[in-house]
Amino acid sequence: MPHFSKSSLKKLKTCDPELQTLFNYVIKFFDCKIIYGYRGEKAQNAAFYGGFSTVKWPYSNHNKQPSQAVDVIPWPIQWNNTDRMRYFIGFVKGVAQMLHDYGAMEAEITSGIDWDNDTVLSDQRFNDFPHFEIKKAINIQIR
Ligand SMILES: [Zn+2]
Repeated sequence: MPHFSKSSLKKLKTCDPELQTLFNYVIKFFDCKIIYGYRGEKAQNAAFYGGFSTVKWPYSNHNKQPSQAVDVIPWPIQWNNTDRMRYFIGFVKGVAQMLHDYGAMEAEITSGIDWDNDTVLSDQRFNDFPHFEIKKAINIQIR
């Protein structure tokens, strides 16, 4: 059974408990690595200038404590293997839905290849393959 490295576990522990629940379940079936949980100012701005994030500190969900976002990719790392990343993301989304429906998780999860959670991938402006975050409640304005 796959398990997280010490480095992955350390990063996962900076994340919201719901994200920890999810990925501690996912790792039993699909080997993966936690790239980032919480990101401080220096790391966030480096991600921004490197083109890996669309926002500067402190506007990313990675900048909240605990982190509301986590970057995870299948192990072994193959950055060009987007097919495998999509396969992994689908697996994570399915596990998240199951844990949510069975009451083990309250949150729903958004992935960086489907920001609006409509299951359509052709309406994306920015694909962030390793990125998962806690889905924010939709803010309905009543006039
Ligand atoms: Zn991310």
